[in-house]
Amino acid sequence: PVVAEPAPRHRTCAVAVGAGPAAVIVGGGAPVVVQSMTNTDTADVEATVTQVLALAQQGSELVRITVDRDEAAAAVPHIFEKLAQKGCHVPLIGDFHYIGHKLLADHPACGEALAKYRINPGNVGFKEKKDKQFASIVELAAKHGKAVRIGANWGSLDQELLTYLMDVNAASDRPLDARAVMREALTRSALMSAKRAEEIGLAKDRIVISAKVSAVQDLIACYRMLAQRSDYALHLGLTEAGMGSKGVVASSAALGVLLQDGIGDTIRVSLTPEPGGDRALEVRVAQEILQTMGFRTFVPLVAACPGCGRTTSTVFQELARDIQAHIRERMAAWRAQYPGVETLNVAVMGCIVNGPGESKHADIGISLPGTGETPSAPVFIDGKKAMTLRGEGIAEEFTRIVDDYIVR
Ligand code: SF4
Repeated sequence: PVVAEPAPRHRTCAVAVGAGPAAVIVGGGAPVVVQSMTNTDTADVEATVTQVLALAQQGSELVRITVDRDEAAAAVPHIFEKLAQKGCHVPLIGDFHYIGHKLLADHPACGEALAKYRINPGNVGFKEKKDKQFASIVELAAKHGKAVRIGANWGSLDQELLTYLMDVNAASDRPLDARAVMREALTRSALMSAKRAEEIGLAKDRIVISAKVSAVQDLIACYRMLAQRSDYALHLGLTEAGMGSKGVVASSAALGVLLQDGIGDTIRVSLTPEPGGDRALEVRVAQEILQTMGFRTFVPLVAACPGCGRTTSTVFQELARDIQAHIRERMAAWRAQYPGVETLNVAVMGCIVNGPGESKHADIGISLPGTGETPSAPVFIDGKKAMTLRGEGIAEEFTRIVDDYIVR
């Protein structure tokens, strides 16, 4: 038989990120959580607060910030306070590399304000130092009651472990190719570090792991191995996905396959924004991956045809774009007032070929006139033709109809 449903979710241990009513549950069968990361200098409190707010308003349920030096660590409690003053309680994750142990020890208020610490086992130190520094961060997390993500990364792979596995592989009767050894090293790095964190005293329900790679097939292979070998909560993301459509496509392909396998408890889409571009795009893409796959609903999505030679103007593209923007803008207020609004389906179609059919399948749909058609636009509500719009003000009238449908 053809199986068209996602596989059952891979069972993982639930991890509470944050405390009290603002806590977000990652794993244990909870809905897949959307997270993102700022690209401001964390030492710049105003800029970071502004961006965290923008990401949270778009629907980022966790936000990670870089903590790379003393000034950044000192700023974290101020960022936390300012966000709280503005009514934003999104859990903050501190991204630590190299000197995280020192920053957390020297800035206890930073460790206190963060809901979760991210450690990269590939750059926490070397040999005896590595164990000590790793242990120091984990002990602080246990002391403060914080979650930790052990985030192995292909670009900063644990070189000692890789060298060891390469040597073992070279001596084997049936050696694997180098790429397979790297996948194994990345997977093991995450798993061994998580086990070590448990030995140091961090409970399993405080541990999330990740093994990020920039190549889609490597990512799928590594996460399938992680899921086969453990029940740690899994943070999923294709690292360095890239800019524009390449980043969106690569992330969607990789995350789509794994989510369909039932793998992944929280996702981040790592897009490189255009200079000065919109950081929150990564949140919208993550939401759209989950929503189009049927895992969660965040915001009504507008279905629109691609247009073709039958559309002689850009009216329908403009209407589709404006309606989607209008819905996103109003969503925060609507969500509070009209539960379930996020499941609304809107269709904007370019002509009668597929227009009426698609519009009838949506909650609200409009079929604009294509070339040679009568200059009128039938509107369908709940599958039935409700009215016909004509003239210059079609966009405004259709927007009002969508608003009325939501508040009715
Ligand atoms: Fe072209 Fe009409 Fe199909 Fe849109 S619905 S792609 S305008 S034929």
